[in-house]
Amino acid sequence: MGKPTGFLEFLRELPSELSPLDRVHNWDEFHFPMPEDKLREQAARCMDCGTPFCHTGTLISGMASGCPINNLIPEWNDLSYRGLWREALDRLHKTNNFPEFTGRVCPAPCEGSCVLGIHNPPVTIKNIECSIVDKGWEEGWITPETPAKRTGKKVAVIGSGPAGLAAADQLNKAGHSVTVYERADRPGGLLMYGIPNMKLDKEEVVLRRLRVLESEGVKFICNTEVGKDIGAEELVREYDATVLCTGATKPRDLNIEGRELKGIHFAMEFLTANTKAILDRQPGSDFISAEGKDVVIIGGGDTGTDCVGTSLRHNCNSVTQLEIMPRPPEQRAADNPWPEWPKIYRMDYGQEEAAARFGDDPRVYTTTATKFEGDENGHVKAIHTVQVEWTRNEKGQFIPKPIEGTEKVLPAQLVLLAMGFLGPEQPLLDDLGLDRDARSNVKADHGKFATSLPGVFAAGDCRRGQSLVVWAINEGRGAARECDRYLMGATDLP
Ligand code: FAD
Repeated sequence: MGKPTGFLEFLRELPSELSPLDRVHNWDEFHFPMPEDKLREQAARCMDCGTPFCHTGTLISGMASGCPINNLIPEWNDLSYRGLWREALDRLHKTNNFPEFTGRVCPAPCEGSCVLGIHNPPVTIKNIECSIVDKGWEEGWITPETPAKRTGKKVAVIGSGPAGLAAADQLNKAGHSVTVYERADRPGGLLMYGIPNMKLDKEEVVLRRLRVLESEGVKFICNTEVGKDIGAEELVREYDATVLCTGATKPRDLNIEGRELKGIHFAMEFLTANTKAILDRQPGSDFISAEGKDVVIIGGGDTGTDCVGTSLRHNCNSVTQLEIMPRPPEQRAADNPWPEWPKIYRMDYGQEEAAARFGDDPRVYTTTATKFEGDENGHVKAIHTVQVEWTRNEKGQFIPKPIEGTEKVLPAQLVLLAMGFLGPEQPLLDDLGLDRDARSNVKADHGKFATSLPGVFAAGDCRRGQSLVVWAINEGRGAARECDRYLMGATDLP
């Protein structure tokens, strides 16, 4: 521990960022790098606790807490405080293949379990992580490292999101020849076509890492849907092992009156087409524009927030985000914020931008849509809503009950459905005859990652359901370890 009194001397500080009104004019990331002296002060706030909950990824009060990939946080905080950036980077890469992704988009459960958070705001772990790896790239410390020996085994990874990429990276390091199949035109999964560019830059950050993987020997085959463009059974037969990382891409629909109207889209149609247009540098081409429209987003989660930020960058006329759940509580100064720290009411980047432009948080809580209304051209023009109260039914389940007299009609020429995902798409799983769990995800135990078909492993959202980038990395690494064990009889992969 570099500075035992650091937590007493320095207050929590985050990097400065472009103001919400300024940043909506482009698709660039908007945080400025923190000066090195400030960063070292922030790292000095780490108390190097006897039990570092940030690193352990355990359960606290039945809730998952800490880092799902067990990042060695107190160690690299100490190294950062001492200015030993290269050593800090090495410690970071021991547990995390892609810290530049998590350092930008992770909701940082580590900070929610930081022990300093009992009395003070927690250590800025996420920003320190991001700064270490960004420095590594700047200094040219991250270069391709090809494995010393090849095993002669061939592994197919289906899906190139963070789970597939982590699995591919680990299996390649173990010396196997890895081919990643991706149905989209670019690899990256939701890192590429999901999370918008202003949160995670595609060319500067995502493709930069993919180029390193490619130079190390990982082969990417895009525009190829396994189960359609290439037979699933045939592929499984051709390879010594297969890792399924196909994500949970089936969106939840809202089947109310008027759902068939034009102008109502799933959030992912909107976000994917937008990023593709930016990357293809054809801004006037094939994307769903929110320009000049009253946009209503159904779903108050992170996907909805990304739709808010994207709509504002299109210069929408207004934006409203409907959320059926109640507004989370504000944090009161007297409350102990730990370990509930991240679960309090907060504005994310999209809400901040909407509030700066229109004067208020765009989220409307305990409210649901009841009907879409169309114009004479069959295009949506309004959405009918009602407020709900959450009560228990006779079985004791919580259900939303409409409150009479709270009905409203909002103008809407663009409606985006961002209500979560219902698990993986089924055709590929059916082709392979894989067992599913009760939520229709691929059945495979966490830790083993083996599906009902020998030699076929599953990781990420297709196994655990819609989750986080950091969990996808955890699962990709774990599935690679078990796949390596299956192929070689033993494994050195962590
Ligand atoms: P995915 O990233 O979904 O990748 C699966 C890939 O498999 C896709 O590219 C798909 O095209 C491909 N595929 C599917 N079927 C086939 C097939 N048959 N053949 C070939 N390829 C196939 N998490 C965070 O931690 N922070 C965030 O800020 C965040 N923001 C998000 C924003 C949005 C809009 C969404 C939808 C999710 C967000 N998440 C975020 C969640 C996170 O992105 C996912 O949990 C994570 O990407 C899951 O990784 P994965 O590799 O399992 O699947």
